[in-house]
Amino acid sequence: SPFGVALTPVQCLHYALTRPAVASVMVGYDTPDHVAAAVAYESASEEEKDYATVLAGAPHHAYAGQCTYCGHCAPCPASIDIAMVNKLYDLAVMQNEVPASLRAHYNGLSAGAANCIGCGSCETRCPFGVHVVERMEQAKALFS
Ligand code: SF4
Ligand code: SF4
Repeated sequence: SPFGVALTPVQCLHYALTRPAVASVMVGYDTPDHVAAAVAYESASEEEKDYATVLAGAPHHAYAGQCTYCGHCAPCPASIDIAMVNKLYDLAVMQNEVPASLRAHYNGLSAGAANCIGCGSCETRCPFGVHVVERMEQAKALFS
């Protein structure tokens, strides 16, 4: 593992399913135990799915300042899904202009970056040192 600690199958699945634009994952297996370990995702708790502590232990330069969409920064008092806003922002800035499909996803959120009140509570909970307030400003400018 590049993180020094192996992710569990449930953590692996959650990591894969929270990558930008990933909607489904095809799981490979050799034994019935492998199938059971993958299917366990369906009933896993949020704590069991949480991969942030493992990634946060990776070599510091690898993830410092980068959103991994882990969701540790929740809850936001303005009800912003910070991980999703960051994910849509990262996808959008890969393009020359914001694709209509991304803009539609963003506009479908119940709260957007413009709702950020800059309280900073998310930043204290982020294991990766993401400057969330700054990111919300950037996302607000990009999607407005
Ligand atoms: S801002 Fe930090 S805590 Fe929130 S989803 Fe991104 S990496 Fe995780
Ligand atoms: S700084 Fe903005 S995004 Fe972070 S918790 Fe506060 S309102 Fe939510």
